[in-house]
Amino acid sequence: MIYADNAATTQMGEAAINAMTACMRDTWGNPSSLYGLGQRAKEALEDARERIATCIGASPKEITFTSGGSEADNQAIRSAALLGARRGKRHIISTAFEHHAILHTLKRLEDEGFEVELLPVGPLGTVTAHQVAEAIREDTALVTIMYANNEIGSILPVSEIGAVCRERRVIFHTDAVQAAGHLPIDVRAQNIDLLSLSAHKFHGPKGIGVLYARQGVPLTSLIEGGAQERGKRAGTENVSAVAGMAAALEESCAHMAENAAKVSVLRDRLIAGLSQIPHSALNGDPVNRLPGNVNFCFEGIEGESLLLLLDDRGICASSGSACTSGSLDPSHVLLAIGRPHEVAHGSLRLSLCEENTEADVDAILKAVPEIVAYLRNMSPLWKDKVSGKKEFVL
Ligand SMILES: *Cc1c(COP(=O)(O)O)cnc(C)c1O
Repeated sequence: MIYADNAATTQMGEAAINAMTACMRDTWGNPSSLYGLGQRAKEALEDARERIATCIGASPKEITFTSGGSEADNQAIRSAALLGARRGKRHIISTAFEHHAILHTLKRLEDEGFEVELLPVGPLGTVTAHQVAEAIREDTALVTIMYANNEIGSILPVSEIGAVCRERRVIFHTDAVQAAGHLPIDVRAQNIDLLSLSAHKFHGPKGIGVLYARQGVPLTSLIEGGAQERGKRAGTENVSAVAGMAAALEESCAHMAENAAKVSVLRDRLIAGLSQIPHSALNGDPVNRLPGNVNFCFEGIEGESLLLLLDDRGICASSGSACTSGSLDPSHVLLAIGRPHEVAHGSLRLSLCEENTEADVDAILKAVPEIVAYLRNMSPLWKDKVSGKKEFVL
Protein backbone atom coordinates (compact mmCIF):
# COMPACT_ATOMS: atom_id res chain seq x y z
CA MET A 1 0.00 0.00 0.00
CA ILE A 2 1.10 3.53 -0.75
CA TYR A 3 -0.25 6.02 1.74
CA ALA A 4 -0.41 9.51 0.22
CA ASP A 5 -3.13 11.08 2.35
CA ASN A 6 -1.15 12.53 5.24
CA ALA A 7 -3.18 15.73 5.24
CA ALA A 8 -6.21 13.65 6.25
CA THR A 9 -4.37 11.79 8.97
CA THR A 10 -0.95 10.29 9.60
CA GLN A 11 0.21 6.91 10.80
CA MET A 12 1.26 7.05 14.43
CA GLY A 13 4.99 6.99 15.04
CA GLU A 14 6.78 4.60 17.39
CA ALA A 15 7.63 7.42 19.79
CA ALA A 16 3.97 8.29 20.25
CA ILE A 17 2.82 4.66 20.52
CA ASN A 18 5.47 3.91 23.13
CA ALA A 19 4.65 7.00 25.16
CA MET A 20 0.96 6.11 25.07
CA THR A 21 1.28 2.46 25.98
CA ALA A 22 3.66 3.30 28.83
CA CYS A 23 1.15 5.82 30.09
CA MET A 24 -1.80 3.42 29.77
CA ARG A 25 0.09 0.72 31.68
CA ASP A 26 1.70 2.76 34.42
CA THR A 27 0.25 6.24 34.68
CA TRP A 28 -3.43 5.51 34.30
CA GLY A 29 -4.68 7.32 37.38
CA ASN A 30 -6.98 10.32 37.32
CA PRO A 31 -4.81 13.45 37.40
CA SER A 32 -7.31 15.07 39.79
CA SER A 33 -6.83 12.33 42.39
CA LEU A 34 -4.66 13.16 45.35
CA TYR A 35 -2.91 9.82 45.91
CA GLY A 36 0.38 8.96 44.25
CA LEU A 37 -1.08 7.18 41.20
CA GLY A 38 -3.20 10.22 40.35
CA GLN A 39 -0.37 12.62 40.99
CA ARG A 40 1.93 10.68 38.70
CA ALA A 41 -0.69 11.03 35.95
CA LYS A 42 -0.83 14.74 36.74
CA GLU A 43 2.95 14.93 36.42
CA ALA A 44 2.84 13.14 33.05
CA LEU A 45 0.20 15.61 31.89
CA GLU A 46 2.16 18.66 33.02
CA ASP A 47 5.40 17.30 31.62
CA ALA A 48 3.71 16.89 28.22
CA ARG A 49 2.21 20.38 28.48
CA GLU A 50 5.64 21.87 29.06
CA ARG A 51 7.23 20.01 26.16
CA ILE A 52 4.44 20.97 23.77
CA ALA A 53 4.66 24.60 24.88
CA THR A 54 8.40 24.57 24.18
CA CYS A 55 7.82 23.28 20.63
CA ILE A 56 5.75 26.36 19.72
CA GLY A 57 7.47 28.99 21.87
CA ALA A 58 4.62 29.24 24.41
CA SER A 59 4.55 28.87 28.16
CA PRO A 60 2.79 25.83 29.70
CA LYS A 61 0.02 27.97 31.21
CA GLU A 62 -0.99 28.98 27.70
CA ILE A 63 -1.66 25.39 26.58
CA THR A 64 -5.17 23.88 26.88
CA PHE A 65 -5.79 20.32 25.74
CA THR A 66 -8.83 19.72 23.53
CA SER A 67 -10.30 16.76 21.67
CA GLY A 68 -8.55 17.86 18.48
CA GLY A 69 -8.25 20.59 15.90
CA SER A 70 -11.97 21.09 15.40
CA GLU A 71 -12.66 21.68 19.07
CA ALA A 72 -9.68 24.02 19.37
CA ASP A 73 -10.94 26.02 16.37
CA ASN A 74 -14.46 26.21 17.80
CA GLN A 75 -13.23 27.30 21.21
CA ALA A 76 -10.79 29.87 19.86
CA ILE A 77 -13.45 31.55 17.74
CA ARG A 78 -16.19 31.40 20.37
CA SER A 79 -13.86 32.83 23.02
CA ALA A 80 -12.71 35.75 20.89
CA ALA A 81 -16.26 36.44 19.70
CA LEU A 82 -17.61 36.56 23.25
CA LEU A 83 -14.80 38.83 24.35
CA GLY A 84 -15.46 41.11 21.38
CA ALA A 85 -19.22 41.20 21.92
CA ARG A 86 -18.69 42.35 25.51
CA ARG A 87 -16.84 45.35 24.08
CA GLY A 88 -19.39 45.97 21.33
CA LYS A 89 -17.18 44.40 18.65
CA ARG A 90 -18.99 42.03 16.33
CA HIS A 91 -16.88 42.02 13.14
CA ILE A 92 -14.77 38.96 12.34
CA ILE A 93 -12.26 38.61 9.51
CA SER A 94 -11.33 35.26 7.99
CA THR A 95 -10.72 33.75 4.56
CA ALA A 96 -12.93 31.93 2.09
CA PHE A 97 -10.85 28.73 2.19
CA GLU A 98 -10.60 27.90 5.88
CA HIS A 99 -11.33 24.44 7.24
CA HIS A 100 -15.01 23.77 7.94
CA ALA A 101 -14.30 23.78 11.68
CA ILE A 102 -13.70 27.51 11.18
CA LEU A 103 -16.24 28.31 8.47
CA HIS A 104 -19.15 26.49 10.09
CA THR A 105 -18.43 28.07 13.48
CA LEU A 106 -18.37 31.49 11.81
CA LYS A 107 -21.67 30.71 10.11
CA ARG A 108 -23.21 30.02 13.51
CA LEU A 109 -21.87 33.31 14.82
CA GLU A 110 -23.41 35.09 11.85
CA ASP A 111 -26.77 33.67 12.89
CA GLU A 112 -26.04 35.07 16.36
CA GLY A 113 -25.54 38.59 15.01
CA PHE A 114 -21.83 38.74 14.17
CA GLU A 115 -20.63 40.13 10.86
CA VAL A 116 -18.19 37.80 9.14
CA GLU A 117 -15.94 39.06 6.36
CA LEU A 118 -14.23 36.36 4.31
CA LEU A 119 -11.22 37.70 2.43
CA PRO A 120 -10.74 36.42 -1.13
CA VAL A 121 -7.67 34.22 -1.49
CA GLY A 122 -6.67 34.79 -5.11
CA PRO A 123 -5.59 32.15 -7.64
CA LEU A 124 -2.55 31.01 -5.61
CA GLY A 125 -4.58 30.58 -2.45
CA THR A 126 -3.25 33.19 -0.08
CA VAL A 127 -4.10 36.52 1.50
CA THR A 128 -1.71 39.38 2.19
CA ALA A 129 -1.20 41.21 5.47
CA HIS A 130 -2.22 44.31 3.51
CA GLN A 131 -5.65 42.81 2.77
CA VAL A 132 -6.05 42.10 6.48
CA ALA A 133 -4.94 45.63 7.44
CA GLU A 134 -7.47 47.10 5.01
CA ALA A 135 -10.27 44.95 6.43
CA ILE A 136 -9.67 45.68 10.12
CA ARG A 137 -12.22 48.07 11.61
CA GLU A 138 -12.87 49.67 15.00
CA ASP A 139 -15.33 46.89 15.76
CA THR A 140 -13.18 43.95 14.61
CA ALA A 141 -13.19 41.31 17.33
CA LEU A 142 -11.05 38.65 15.67
CA VAL A 143 -8.91 37.78 12.69
CA THR A 144 -8.81 34.01 12.08
CA ILE A 145 -6.61 32.87 9.20
CA MET A 146 -5.08 29.46 8.72
CA TYR A 147 -1.33 28.86 8.78
CA ALA A 148 -1.38 26.50 5.81
CA ASN A 149 -4.27 25.23 3.73
CA ASN A 150 -5.16 21.56 4.13
CA GLU A 151 -6.23 21.02 0.52
CA ILE A 152 -3.89 23.03 -1.68
CA GLY A 153 -1.00 23.38 0.78
CA SER A 154 -0.44 27.10 0.39
CA ILE A 155 1.38 28.69 3.33
CA LEU A 156 -0.03 32.00 4.54
CA PRO A 157 2.01 35.00 5.74
CA VAL A 158 1.12 34.42 9.38
CA SER A 159 3.97 36.48 10.86
CA GLU A 160 3.02 39.53 8.80
CA ILE A 161 -0.67 39.11 9.62
CA GLY A 162 0.23 38.69 13.30
CA ALA A 163 2.22 41.94 13.24
CA VAL A 164 -0.70 43.83 11.70
CA CYS A 165 -3.18 42.43 14.23
CA ARG A 166 -0.95 43.20 17.18
CA GLU A 167 -0.42 46.76 15.99
CA ARG A 168 -4.17 47.24 15.57
CA ARG A 169 -4.91 45.42 18.85
CA VAL A 170 -7.09 42.79 17.25
CA ILE A 171 -7.01 39.17 18.44
CA PHE A 172 -5.34 36.87 15.90
CA HIS A 173 -6.14 33.17 15.74
CA THR A 174 -4.48 30.76 13.35
CA ASP A 175 -5.58 27.22 12.55
CA ALA A 176 -2.10 25.69 12.47
CA VAL A 177 -3.29 22.09 12.19
CA GLN A 178 -1.46 21.54 8.89
CA ALA A 179 1.59 23.49 10.03
CA ALA A 180 2.38 22.05 13.46
CA GLY A 181 5.27 19.62 13.27
CA HIS A 182 5.87 20.55 9.63
CA LEU A 183 6.65 24.28 9.66
CA PRO A 184 8.37 26.34 12.36
CA ILE A 185 5.98 27.96 14.85
CA ASP A 186 6.93 30.61 17.39
CA VAL A 187 3.79 32.14 18.85
CA ARG A 188 5.65 35.04 20.48
CA ALA A 189 7.77 36.07 17.52
CA GLN A 190 4.77 35.65 15.19
CA ASN A 191 2.35 37.63 17.39
CA ILE A 192 -0.17 34.82 17.52
CA ASP A 193 -2.84 35.15 20.22
CA LEU A 194 -4.69 31.89 19.64
CA LEU A 195 -3.50 28.78 17.79
CA SER A 196 -5.02 25.35 17.12
CA LEU A 197 -3.14 22.14 16.48
CA SER A 198 -4.08 18.47 16.23
CA ALA A 199 -1.89 15.46 17.06
CA HIS A 200 -3.07 13.10 14.32
CA LYS A 201 -1.65 15.37 11.62
CA PHE A 202 1.92 14.86 12.88
CA HIS A 203 2.04 11.12 13.66
CA GLY A 204 0.28 11.43 17.00
CA PRO A 205 -3.04 9.96 18.13
CA LYS A 206 -6.48 11.06 16.96
CA GLY A 207 -8.88 12.84 19.27
CA ILE A 208 -6.37 15.12 20.94
CA GLY A 209 -5.25 18.64 20.18
CA VAL A 210 -4.16 21.92 21.66
CA LEU A 211 -5.58 25.38 21.91
CA TYR A 212 -2.81 27.83 22.69
CA ALA A 213 -4.10 31.09 24.14
CA ARG A 214 -1.67 33.89 24.89
CA GLN A 215 -1.67 34.90 28.53
CA GLY A 216 -4.32 37.59 28.91
CA VAL A 217 -6.64 36.15 26.25
CA PRO A 218 -9.45 34.51 28.23
CA LEU A 219 -10.95 31.27 26.95
CA THR A 220 -14.62 30.42 27.21
CA SER A 221 -15.33 26.82 28.08
CA LEU A 222 -17.36 24.89 25.50
CA ILE A 223 -17.76 21.94 27.85
CA GLU A 224 -19.08 22.53 31.33
CA GLY A 225 -18.16 20.25 34.20
CA GLY A 226 -15.14 19.85 36.44
CA ALA A 227 -12.28 22.29 36.84
CA GLN A 228 -9.82 20.44 34.60
CA GLU A 229 -7.56 22.53 32.36
CA ARG A 230 -7.97 25.41 34.81
CA GLY A 231 -11.67 25.62 34.11
CA LYS A 232 -11.26 26.02 30.36
CA ARG A 233 -12.11 22.47 29.35
CA ALA A 234 -14.00 20.12 31.63
CA GLY A 235 -13.57 16.35 31.57
CA THR A 236 -10.94 13.91 32.83
CA GLU A 237 -7.81 14.53 30.84
CA ASN A 238 -6.80 12.02 28.15
CA VAL A 239 -3.35 11.63 29.67
CA SER A 240 -2.05 8.90 27.37
CA ALA A 241 -3.14 10.75 24.23
CA VAL A 242 -1.53 13.92 25.55
CA ALA A 243 1.70 12.00 26.21
CA GLY A 244 1.55 10.56 22.68
CA MET A 245 0.96 14.01 21.24
CA ALA A 246 3.97 15.46 23.09
CA ALA A 247 6.23 12.66 21.91
CA ALA A 248 5.02 13.02 18.30
CA LEU A 249 5.38 16.80 18.26
CA GLU A 250 8.88 16.69 19.72
CA GLU A 251 9.89 14.07 17.18
CA SER A 252 8.43 16.04 14.26
CA CYS A 253 10.00 19.29 15.41
CA ALA A 254 13.40 17.65 15.97
CA HIS A 255 13.44 16.35 12.38
CA MET A 256 11.49 19.18 10.75
CA ALA A 257 14.17 20.52 8.41
CA GLU A 258 15.42 17.13 7.20
CA ASN A 259 11.86 15.82 6.74
CA ALA A 260 10.84 18.92 4.80
CA ALA A 261 13.92 18.65 2.58
CA LYS A 262 13.24 14.99 1.83
CA VAL A 263 9.50 15.31 1.32
CA SER A 264 9.66 18.41 -0.86
CA VAL A 265 11.95 16.58 -3.31
CA LEU A 266 9.30 13.85 -3.66
CA ARG A 267 6.57 16.48 -3.94
CA ASP A 268 8.37 18.35 -6.71
CA ARG A 269 8.93 15.14 -8.66
CA LEU A 270 5.21 14.40 -8.43
CA ILE A 271 4.30 17.92 -9.50
CA ALA A 272 6.68 17.81 -12.46
CA GLY A 273 5.39 14.38 -13.51
CA LEU A 274 1.69 15.11 -13.17
CA SER A 275 2.09 18.44 -14.99
CA GLN A 276 2.85 16.36 -18.11
CA ILE A 277 -0.79 15.22 -18.21
CA PRO A 278 -2.58 17.36 -20.83
CA HIS A 279 -5.35 19.66 -19.57
CA SER A 280 -4.20 19.45 -15.98
CA ALA A 281 -3.33 22.23 -13.56
CA LEU A 282 -1.53 22.43 -10.24
CA ASN A 283 -3.68 23.97 -7.52
CA GLY A 284 -2.07 26.34 -5.03
CA ASP A 285 1.25 28.12 -4.92
CA PRO A 286 4.00 26.21 -6.77
CA VAL A 287 6.72 27.45 -4.39
CA ASN A 288 5.17 28.57 -1.14
CA ARG A 289 3.48 25.31 -0.20
CA LEU A 290 3.60 22.58 2.42
CA PRO A 291 6.50 20.19 1.79
CA GLY A 292 4.19 17.20 1.25
CA ASN A 293 1.25 18.72 -0.63
CA VAL A 294 0.40 18.00 -4.27
CA ASN A 295 -3.01 19.01 -5.63
CA PHE A 296 -4.07 18.85 -9.25
CA CYS A 297 -7.18 19.38 -11.30
CA PHE A 298 -7.63 17.11 -14.31
CA GLU A 299 -10.19 18.25 -16.79
CA GLY A 300 -12.84 15.77 -17.88
CA ILE A 301 -12.76 13.37 -14.93
CA GLU A 302 -14.56 12.84 -11.64
CA GLY A 303 -12.27 12.93 -8.62
CA GLU A 304 -14.18 10.09 -6.96
CA SER A 305 -13.65 7.69 -9.86
CA LEU A 306 -9.96 8.52 -9.89
CA LEU A 307 -9.71 7.78 -6.17
CA LEU A 308 -11.47 4.44 -6.47
CA LEU A 309 -9.21 3.32 -9.29
CA LEU A 310 -6.14 4.48 -7.36
CA ASP A 311 -7.39 2.47 -4.39
CA ASP A 312 -7.57 -0.60 -6.65
CA ARG A 313 -3.85 -0.13 -7.21
CA GLY A 314 -3.18 0.27 -3.50
CA ILE A 315 -2.74 4.04 -3.56
CA CYS A 316 -4.52 6.07 -0.84
CA ALA A 317 -5.19 9.65 -1.91
CA SER A 318 -7.92 12.19 -1.59
CA SER A 319 -10.07 14.52 -3.61
CA GLY A 320 -10.58 17.76 -1.79
CA SER A 321 -10.45 17.07 1.92
CA ALA A 322 -11.47 13.99 3.89
CA CYS A 323 -14.16 16.08 5.51
CA THR A 324 -15.93 16.82 2.23
CA SER A 325 -15.50 13.49 0.52
CA GLY A 326 -18.75 11.67 0.90
CA SER A 327 -20.49 14.81 -0.25
CA LEU A 328 -20.68 15.55 -3.94
CA ASP A 329 -20.19 19.28 -3.54
CA PRO A 330 -17.04 20.54 -5.21
CA SER A 331 -14.32 21.68 -2.82
CA HIS A 332 -14.96 25.17 -1.42
CA VAL A 333 -11.19 25.66 -1.47
CA LEU A 334 -10.89 25.05 -5.21
CA LEU A 335 -13.88 27.29 -5.87
CA ALA A 336 -12.25 29.97 -3.67
CA ILE A 337 -9.11 29.99 -5.83
CA GLY A 338 -11.29 30.41 -8.90
CA ARG A 339 -11.50 26.92 -10.34
CA PRO A 340 -14.81 26.46 -12.19
CA HIS A 341 -17.24 23.88 -10.74
CA GLU A 342 -16.57 21.50 -13.60
CA VAL A 343 -12.84 21.10 -12.95
CA ALA A 344 -13.15 21.47 -9.18
CA HIS A 345 -14.84 18.05 -9.33
CA GLY A 346 -11.80 16.49 -10.98
CA SER A 347 -9.20 17.17 -8.31
CA LEU A 348 -6.62 14.94 -6.69
CA ARG A 349 -4.73 15.65 -3.49
CA LEU A 350 -1.64 13.62 -2.70
CA SER A 351 -0.09 14.45 0.66
CA LEU A 352 3.25 12.88 1.47
CA CYS A 353 5.29 12.38 4.62
CA GLU A 354 8.87 11.38 5.36
CA GLU A 355 7.91 7.69 5.22
CA ASN A 356 7.11 7.94 1.50
CA THR A 357 9.77 6.83 -0.99
CA GLU A 358 10.96 7.43 -4.52
CA ALA A 359 9.33 4.11 -5.42
CA ASP A 360 5.98 5.46 -4.17
CA VAL A 361 6.38 8.46 -6.45
CA ASP A 362 7.25 6.20 -9.40
CA ALA A 363 4.14 4.10 -8.81
CA ILE A 364 1.88 7.16 -8.52
CA LEU A 365 3.40 8.69 -11.65
CA LYS A 366 2.65 5.47 -13.51
CA ALA A 367 -0.89 5.03 -12.17
CA VAL A 368 -2.37 8.54 -12.38
CA PRO A 369 -1.77 9.26 -16.10
CA GLU A 370 -3.10 5.80 -17.01
CA ILE A 371 -6.24 6.21 -14.93
CA VAL A 372 -6.86 9.76 -16.12
CA ALA A 373 -6.59 8.61 -19.75
CA TYR A 374 -8.87 5.63 -19.06
CA LEU A 375 -11.55 7.81 -17.42
CA ARG A 376 -11.35 10.45 -20.12
CA ASN A 377 -11.83 7.77 -22.76
CA MET A 378 -15.13 6.82 -21.17
CA SER A 379 -16.36 10.39 -20.76
CA PRO A 380 -18.87 11.78 -23.30
CA LEU A 381 -17.97 15.29 -22.10
CA TRP A 382 -14.31 14.67 -22.85
CA LYS A 383 -15.17 13.41 -26.33
CA ASP A 384 -17.12 16.61 -27.00
CA LYS A 385 -14.07 18.61 -25.98
CA VAL A 386 -11.69 16.62 -28.12
CA SER A 387 -14.01 16.97 -31.13
CA GLY A 388 -14.31 20.71 -30.54
CA LYS A 389 -18.02 20.67 -29.65
CA LYS A 390 -17.18 22.00 -26.19
CA GLU A 391 -14.38 24.24 -24.96
CA PHE A 392 -11.51 23.05 -22.79
CA VAL A 393 -11.34 24.87 -19.47
CA LEU A 394 -7.71 23.97 -18.59
C1 LIG B 1 -7.60 18.17 10.15
C2 LIG B 1 -7.82 19.63 10.27
C3 LIG B 1 -8.67 20.17 11.25
C4 LIG B 1 -9.47 19.28 12.18
O1 LIG B 1 -8.68 18.62 13.12
P1 LIG B 1 -9.31 17.36 13.89
O2 LIG B 1 -8.29 17.04 14.94
O3 LIG B 1 -9.44 16.29 12.88
O4 LIG B 1 -10.59 17.81 14.47
C5 LIG B 1 -8.80 21.52 11.33
N1 LIG B 1 -8.13 22.34 10.50
C6 LIG B 1 -7.30 21.88 9.55
C7 LIG B 1 -6.58 22.84 8.68
C8 LIG B 1 -7.12 20.51 9.40
O5 LIG B 1 -6.31 20.05 8.44
